[in-house]
Amino acid sequence: MDLLEYQGKQLFQKHGVPVPDGRPATSVPEAVEAAEELGYPVVIKAQVQIGGRGKAGGIKLAKDRAEAEENATAILGMDIRGFTVHELYVEKASEIDEEYYAAIVFDRAAKKPMAMLSKMGGMDVEEVAETDPEAMRMLHVDPLLGLQDFQGRRLAFESGIAEDVIRPVGAMLAKLYDVFVREDATLVEVNPLLITKSREVVALDAKVTVDDNALFRHPDVAEMRDPEAYPPEERAAREKGVTYVKLDGEVGILGNGAGLVMSTLDVIVLVGGSPANFCDLGGGGDAQGVVDALEIITGDPQVKSILFNIFGGITRCDEVARGILQALGKMQIPHPIVVRLDGTNAEEGRRLLEEAAPPNLHVEPTMLDAARRAVELAA
Ligand code: GDP
Ligand code: MN
Repeated sequence: MDLLEYQGKQLFQKHGVPVPDGRPATSVPEAVEAAEELGYPVVIKAQVQIGGRGKAGGIKLAKDRAEAEENATAILGMDIRGFTVHELYVEKASEIDEEYYAAIVFDRAAKKPMAMLSKMGGMDVEEVAETDPEAMRMLHVDPLLGLQDFQGRRLAFESGIAEDVIRPVGAMLAKLYDVFVREDATLVEVNPLLITKSREVVALDAKVTVDDNALFRHPDVAEMRDPEAYPPEERAAREKGVTYVKLDGEVGILGNGAGLVMSTLDVIVLVGGSPANFCDLGGGGDAQGVVDALEIITGDPQVKSILFNIFGGITRCDEVARGILQALGKMQIPHPIVVRLDGTNAEEGRRLLEEAAPPNLHVEPTMLDAARRAVELAA
């Protein structure tokens, strides 16, 4: 999950990385109030999940109330390379002396985190990497030892930054590494890493990506998720704790377990169809789980038929059958549903479905038969 600049800066603050004082705002009056509180001059910054905001006009200085109002109005609602600005960050303006670049990333080939530093910050890093690769200095970090201050200083020295800030920049790198580890980030990038006129080291921008799989350990970060950045069904699935993946065909697929779901996708394609999406009920597959998954699958307008492929191991087929019947009792499902149940309590499950015999529900004995039927019904 990518964080917005101000969210990244909140994490920076938590771990002692110096950032300018600032306040987020979602309306012009809120932005003006923030500016008044901070004191002028301020910088008004578009909060979108994309870089290059400066060049796109999404970052503007304001030296009084009138300018704050004017610039906040200009930036809110602006389109920055396909991203609409819904949020602003109002920050006390900094006096720039030098702009460096610092990042902590994973070097997957080396299986280690890596610290990066360049004295050529503030512009496109890719460009620097191409025109002047020597300007980017790198250092692998032993994950068991962490990034020591002396290593940070060495990297700072090698990168050729101003001598008087080698020590504080080295310390800054160690703190950024702290953010990286403690927040389970996969990327922490600061561009520019600012040296102010009074020679202080400050993170002027923040790009933090956190590992989704670790969010359960960071409830405060999990709350930062921007719901608007995801399609509505994926949002709903996430809220319900259902694994859901959108694809582009017309058969909605519901299975239990990743392996079974993957082979179901293959079989659908084998018989000439194409999957619209899939939900994985996992090892559980209780009635409520089935109801939740059906709601999500049917929320996708591309779905024309639904295939349930359940192999009962830990999951009991009768429980899944009850879930299907419960869902059908609760909601109107316009699409035909094909069900294949096998494994634990499969007989009982099939009997329940056959007895209730809801219209538009087809029970098939094998995976192949079920896939054929679902593809036929989607045509
Ligand atoms: P990005 O363009 O999306 O990477 O946004 P940044 O936050 O990195 O800002 C881009 C540029 O705007 C920086 O490199 C600075 O040159 C400038 N800028 C941002 N904040 C300030 C500030 O407080 N004072 C001054 N003078 N310039 C700023
Ligand atoms: Mn930047």
